[in-house]
Amino acid sequence: MLFSDIQIIDEHFQAKDHQWVGTRGDTIAYVGSCAPTEDFGEVYSGTGCALMPGMYNAHAHAPMTLLRGYAENLPLQQWLNDRVFPFEAKITDEEAYPATLLAIAEMLRFGTVSFSDMYYFSDARAHAVIESGIKCNLSEAALSFTDTPYSELPIARVNEHLIDAYHMAANGRLKIDLSIHAEYTSNPALVEAVGQLAVERGLRTHIHLAETQTETRECAERHDGMSPAAYFDSLGFFRMPCSAAHCVWTTADDWAILRERGVTAVTNPASNLKLASGIAPVAAMLDAGVAVALGTDGPASNNNHDMFQDMYLLALLQKGASGDPCAVSPAQALQIATENGARAQGREDCGAIKQGNKADLVVVDVDQPHLHPATDLASNLVYAAHGSDVVLTMVDGAVLYRDGEWPTIDVERAEAETDAAFKRIIARL
Ligand SMILES: [Zn+2]
Repeated sequence: MLFSDIQIIDEHFQAKDHQWVGTRGDTIAYVGSCAPTEDFGEVYSGTGCALMPGMYNAHAHAPMTLLRGYAENLPLQQWLNDRVFPFEAKITDEEAYPATLLAIAEMLRFGTVSFSDMYYFSDARAHAVIESGIKCNLSEAALSFTDTPYSELPIARVNEHLIDAYHMAANGRLKIDLSIHAEYTSNPALVEAVGQLAVERGLRTHIHLAETQTETRECAERHDGMSPAAYFDSLGFFRMPCSAAHCVWTTADDWAILRERGVTAVTNPASNLKLASGIAPVAAMLDAGVAVALGTDGPASNNNHDMFQDMYLLALLQKGASGDPCAVSPAQALQIATENGARAQGREDCGAIKQGNKADLVVVDVDQPHLHPATDLASNLVYAAHGSDVVLTMVDGAVLYRDGEWPTIDVERAEAETDAAFKRIIARL
């Protein structure tokens, strides 16, 4: 496809007018300020449109679409123990599958090309990823409330199966990560074992870290005054690149660990606000040299997968919390939502509009009342646009959403099956 005479967000996350972007196969083969001489197939007119890199949702729990609107107005521990865990215990693979497909449809509709998903029902999620064409770093959440060794826990067999069956499947669109749900749902032996497996198999990891003040205080009480970041580091867990969701209750000492170990702090502003967990110190983490990416978290705590909404909250919360209107510029917010997420997934050739990168592209309809005048595209995308302004989402050169149509997903069916699954699960509770 050739995007013709279109304004783009360039590789430096700045607006650039009158560009031509050509894709061949799964790659961006041409970026220039004049029309290429080669033929790239379909010509997409850039009139009234803008082209930006696809969003990378760096922390999600796709099947939690089943819980959208189910657990409302509760603090995290009550939300988790009284509502979420009992509901999750009743979900089956057959029910997780349509909910994952629906989450993927929603992500594609809002311009997300890849997501990092920590949950259960990993076969069902993997199939939904492979069939839909989206990218995903998928992990099965490891939890343990006993001292049973890792090798004797079901998660050990699940991880081996996932690595063998799906790691780098679908031309690398699907990757398997290893996950520890959190400090408070695991124990040191489990953290050590999963960290060691990550080293042996060369895999990335995904955890929840310092989401609430209670978690952080209780971690210190359990583990010699250590913060969650210091605790995971003391067990050698950060030897492989890790995505640490939330990092709300972190300090300068923690940021030094995250920076040293190459841990990406994945901020989830909507989820943190809804569960009243706090505001992550993103501006300070950026100043401290920590890599920051952006996620939606699950729909039980957000309640959607609209990365534009989280990008907006990220930028505004950091200004308000720091008292500095320059904190998190539009270019920074865009880079955090796109390229930084790709880096967190170990996808070095993704996340920016650049010749040679993977063709993960999003077209936004900017010819709308809330996006005129087009003073600055980056500002408009961060402060004024919504996910619903996306009219085309391309992943690895394949168009997966365009003008209300999903060529790879039967969305009506996924909606009906998810609704029916919700009713069945409620009846079993
Ligand atoms: Zn989460």
